[in-house]
Amino acid sequence: MKKISVLGATGSVGQNTIDLLRRTREDYNIVALTGGRNIAQLAADAIELQADIAVTAYEDLLDDLRAALAGSDVEAAAGEEAIVEAAFRPAFWVMSAIVGAAGLRPGLAVLEQGATLALANKESLVAAAPLLLETARANNARILPVDSEHSAIFQALVGEDRSAVSRVIITASGGAFRDWPLEKLATATIEQASTHPNWDMGQRITIDSASMFNKALEMIEAREFFGFTPEQIEVLIHPESTVHALVGFKDGALMAHVGPPDMRHAIGYALNWPRRDTLPVERLDLAAIGQLSFRTPDLNRYPALGLAHQVMEAGGLSGAVFNAAKERALDHFIGGRIGFWDMNVIVEEVLNRQSPGQSHKDVSITLDRVLQVDHLARICADDVMREQANRK
Ligand code: NDP
Repeated sequence: MKKISVLGATGSVGQNTIDLLRRTREDYNIVALTGGRNIAQLAADAIELQADIAVTAYEDLLDDLRAALAGSDVEAAAGEEAIVEAAFRPAFWVMSAIVGAAGLRPGLAVLEQGATLALANKESLVAAAPLLLETARANNARILPVDSEHSAIFQALVGEDRSAVSRVIITASGGAFRDWPLEKLATATIEQASTHPNWDMGQRITIDSASMFNKALEMIEAREFFGFTPEQIEVLIHPESTVHALVGFKDGALMAHVGPPDMRHAIGYALNWPRRDTLPVERLDLAAIGQLSFRTPDLNRYPALGLAHQVMEAGGLSGAVFNAAKERALDHFIGGRIGFWDMNVIVEEVLNRQSPGQSHKDVSITLDRVLQVDHLARICADDVMREQANRK
């Protein structure tokens, strides 16, 4: 039986992963499930799947978790360190579906113990790709992409000569506001931004889809994970979210990955890799779909895409600055302290102030440096927000 852990088990990707594990329960031994505030879900899944340990990120919730696990054999633990320790418990395959930079240290722990890291947590790759990739290499561990676009690229590259790739196209639904008049975006509410036209995802990535910060992270993720140059990475708006990515080759061929907007496909591919196995996802009826459409994104509507290019060109620790500024701006939007459009303004300003010192190509990327840069970028984002408020 394969030993499996799921980090971020209570979230959208985590629950989709558990759905797949539940269907082939007899193949797996669940080591650790981790979550945050959703103690009831964490405990219920840990008991059902007979996990060795359940961990919440929040120490003040340890008593609640213990109470919810009472009478079972599941161990309880809490706090950031406890999550890192759980990630370090020997396993064959670990899903990293924690949201945000909080996923970085647990992801590194998974690689240090030599397990396969199924990586949904794109933020860790954007902030610290060289560190993750080097840790994987040094420990003979593997990272498998779970972001649907990157899973699509990964699948399109099977058996191909990487040097024959000329470009990659990542598709984007365009998010909640793709058809809104530009001038109305400043008035977008949290509720409006939290509704995705096609995908059912956690709130943070859903809002990032509306602003396209999610696509910006994915461009950087594609550059870092696959080693494409910034010029090779294109984004197209594809409202149907059916073609997840396309890889273009020297001879002009485009290999597309086509499937329903269901994360269980990408998760299942990583879980069964290198085999393909039956998955409980819809079989597309292309005749019923009839038409698929694509268009070039308007950079005035989605400044995040331009910022992604800036980050890719700068390299070094710019990704850590960008991600932290984005996370903090999103915190402020969700907290009702800034408007939707202000997120763009804050991230751009933090990049301009913090990135130049971090972008040298030869900057050493250690965990301490990444965490420090992340911390400073968050403070800077708060400063910019206050300055903006004072000006209004
Ligand atoms: P959710 O918000 O739905 O879930 C996040 C998970 O992380 C939950 O288990 C949450 O716990 C836990 N968590 C929150 N804060 C912390 C913390 N500080 N420390 C440890 N755990 C924490 O997110 P998604 O599932 O939507 O996304 C997860 C990751 O996958 C993100 O990086 C996202 O970009 C990526 N991704 C998601 C896709 C999707 O379809 N949702 C698609 C592709 C990539 P709790 O809920 O109990 O508080």
